[in-house]
Amino acid sequence: MPSRKFADGEVVRGRWPGSSLYYEVEILSHDSQSQLYTVKYKDGTELELKENDIKPLTSFRQRKSGSTSSSPSRRRGSRSRSRSRSPGRPLRSSRRSASASHQADIKEMRKEVLEVKLTPLVLKPFGNSLSRYNGEPERTERDGLPPRNTEEKFHLSEESRYISTQYSLRPRREEIKLKDIDSKEENIVATKGSTLWKTSEEPATQTKALEFGGVPGAFLIMLGLPAFLFLLLLTCKQKEPRLLNFPPPLPALSDLWETRVFGVYLLWFFLQALFYLLPIGKVVEGMPLTDGRRLKYRLNGNAIYDFFIGRELNPRIGTFDLKYFCELRPGLIGWVVVNLVMLLAEMKVQGRAAPSLAMILVNSFQLLYVVDALWNEEALLTTMDITHDGFGFMLAFGDLVWVPFIYSFQAFYLVHHPNEVSWPMASLIIALKLCGYVIFRCANSQKNAFRKNPSDPKLAHLKTIHTSTGKNLLVSGWWGFVRHPNYLGDLIMALAWSLPCGFKHILPYFYVIYFAVLLVHREARDERHCRRKYGLAWEKYRRHVPYRIIPYIY
Ligand code: NDP
Repeated sequence: MPSRKFADGEVVRGRWPGSSLYYEVEILSHDSQSQLYTVKYKDGTELELKENDIKPLTSFRQRKSGSTSSSPSRRRGSRSRSRSRSPGRPLRSSRRSASASHQADIKEMRKEVLEVKLTPLVLKPFGNSLSRYNGEPERTERDGLPPRNTEEKFHLSEESRYISTQYSLRPRREEIKLKDIDSKEENIVATKGSTLWKTSEEPATQTKALEFGGVPGAFLIMLGLPAFLFLLLLTCKQKEPRLLNFPPPLPALSDLWETRVFGVYLLWFFLQALFYLLPIGKVVEGMPLTDGRRLKYRLNGNAIYDFFIGRELNPRIGTFDLKYFCELRPGLIGWVVVNLVMLLAEMKVQGRAAPSLAMILVNSFQLLYVVDALWNEEALLTTMDITHDGFGFMLAFGDLVWVPFIYSFQAFYLVHHPNEVSWPMASLIIALKLCGYVIFRCANSQKNAFRKNPSDPKLAHLKTIHTSTGKNLLVSGWWGFVRHPNYLGDLIMALAWSLPCGFKHILPYFYVIYFAVLLVHREARDERHCRRKYGLAWEKYRRHVPYRIIPYIY
């Protein structure tokens, strides 16, 4: 009997297959025939290694904690030629009870197959979110080891999240042909678990755990969803569409079918198919299939989104910057012009010799806003509109149509709905407007000054958080008050613009409501961008400044 170098239970270092990395492992057993050791890594992974791939602990210089002994699964970067608790292994074991349920066996085997069949593909960073260094020390740095490939730059959590897309799960049929597989259990696999073994054409998703409640769940959904849809539609059709009027009267079966409607639907369907087939748009590769192939898909369904958000970040004709131009000039100045026209219209329609106090307040408040924007023109350069959004429908329509015609809504309202404002009330409204303006202007100026020159002596008293991008984050001053003090000021101003219109109708308050929704949504978008950009540093900022826009409320 050939001798073995390492004893069961001995703690040694085992090479991770396909790499030159050694991790602390425990010898579980030794197969004298194959001359393979079964070893267990610290994260529980079991592999069979050759004796050459095992070294005594003493032959290594001890690394700092968290080095080589960390989970090898974090470093899975190459296909294991050994078996990690191969499908045959537990079946060979006499420990397994013959009375174990077939279902459990299949589950167990499926799990094991998934564990061992990780075949690495060429790994690419996934979008910005992973390719960007985001403030957290990269895993390879934490481990004290140099990065070996792209994959090793991923964080553990990201790695596990993407593992199903990073690896192709390939059934290794040879595994199940191991001589010592119990023939009875082989039958189980062949009959009940046929999907597990039979093909390499199936997508990886088919080997995942069943979702939506498995078979019963899927069955109920398929039955229940159309029924629920009918219930909603039939309820809605009633004169009194109350959910309590249950069940709604059921139509005759013949009412449920109309050939013309079906024809229209088919037409719609095939028209979409035609659009889909048009040879426009880029062609990208989908996720790898189980056999490693990647199907090609033509993506042209995003045209609408691209049109909305804009593909071009900085469209220019020579030095004429279309977006920058539209952001400030035609829209904002147009807004002031429309306001002035409304002021004149009010005098004309209401036969006034002078505009109403309400109209003067609205006009002057909004004029101040526009003048401020033009005065601080440079500040526009650090806004999301310029730095992040393309020049598509959203900004073009917003700048050229929405701003001049919706932002002047209060003035328009006052033309036909006069509202007398007393001087004390006017004073309160002016105070509110000024309060909003101070917050808005100071917050924006502070950030702009800081972005322009982080070592500006005037800002030296402010605390900052260091981020790995090189840019720092203000954590005191206005930006330590809430995470978007400029939005707060802007919202207060918006309220002050509406108040001169009185409280008879909600229409003049449309702007405040719309603007609150816009800023909440905008804040969420910015939050996502900043989290991606600054990673842990942003989390730290969030902890320091927990409120987004309104202190102690939101
Ligand atoms: P901001 O001016 O608030 O800019 C957000 C960016 O500021 C972040 O992406 C980040 O970018 C930087 N930042 C965030 N937190 C900090 C911090 N603590 N320290 C330093 N930098 C930080 O965003 P908007 O472009 O949305 O708004 C600009 C102004 O325009 C606001 O006053 C807003 O109210 C107003 N506005 C008005 C609208 C209207 O219709 N009237 C519509 C939209 C906005 P980075 O770190 O990369 O510099």
